[in-house]
Amino acid sequence: AAKAQGKDGYAMFAPSMRDGFDREVMWRTELQQALADRTLHVAYQPIVALGERRVAGVEALARWQHPQHGIVAPDEFIPVAERAGLIAELGLLVLRRACAEFAAWPGSQSTYLSVNVSPSQMLDASFPSKVAATLYEVGLRPTQLVLEVTENALADESEVIGTLRRLREFGIRIAIDDFGTGYASLRYLHRFPADIVKIDRTYVQDIARDPAAVHILGTLWQLFGALGLTAVAEGIEDPAQAAMLVELGCEVGQGFLYGHPGPLNSITVELAPAERT
Ligand code: C2E
Ligand code: MG
Ligand code: MG
Ligand code: MG
Repeated sequence: AAKAQGKDGYAMFAPSMRDGFDREVMWRTELQQALADRTLHVAYQPIVALGERRVAGVEALARWQHPQHGIVAPDEFIPVAERAGLIAELGLLVLRRACAEFAAWPGSQSTYLSVNVSPSQMLDASFPSKVAATLYEVGLRPTQLVLEVTENALADESEVIGTLRRLREFGIRIAIDDFGTGYASLRYLHRFPADIVKIDRTYVQDIARDPAAVHILGTLWQLFGALGLTAVAEGIEDPAQAAMLVELGCEVGQGFLYGHPGPLNSITVELAPAERT
């Protein structure tokens, strides 16, 4: 089949090949097969304590190794899984696999594992006990796990908030992912039971050239501090961005500068000293 290489080297279907309904049905069937065959795997990206230059945690990112199309990006298959009602199964598979791999990794003693969770998974009342059972099975402490939810998950406020509270009672931390891109407003920040806020990379990418972005981030950091939230900057790609973030008081970040998503065993906890810029 014809295949186009998309951004980041992900495989994409050529637009002319299949569209709309056909494509959706095809993906759904293949995703079901992938779940059965276990051709989904997990890539890991380091989350770095910027000042100390050591890995504070790793984010688990789902990857689908498609037999014909190569690696399919999660931004493509997660929405399909959601529409097909497969996200609970997929999400649990990723969580279990990531927890097992992380528990077996020597670096897990001093770091945490961060796993993305879809809003619909949070609507399942038994989700917290499934997570707790997974941790128990692999021998991880709840404090070693962070669950990431996008701010749009907060649309369904009351139900999701109940689930988040229970997870936090276990000692699991909650991160608001891609902060600043959704339609949630600032008032969610203190209503939402969270521990960590991940600033979307669009803000980080602007700081080296846009003084307004610097002001926004500086102010946000103060606000997060006052609310007791730890901020994590996403999408740090060059040393200039990292230096500015540190100056603004940002202590934790991730991005291609520190490592692309890949096998867990390729991550070393202590980073080499920063190059002078
Ligand atoms: P996310 O959770 O915000 O993950 C960060 C995304 O940014 C990842 O894309 C990562 O590869 C990319 N990234 C990291 N550093 C940089 C950088 O410096 N520059 C740029 N341009 N990009 C960077 P990825 O792996 O394609 O994942 C996309 C999204 O798919 C994730 O965004 C997350 O929302 C979702 N996702 C991934 N795995 C899962 C999963 O297991 N379950 C759920 N529900 N969603 C997932
Ligand atoms: Mg994330
Ligand atoms: Mg994010
Ligand atoms: Mg994202």
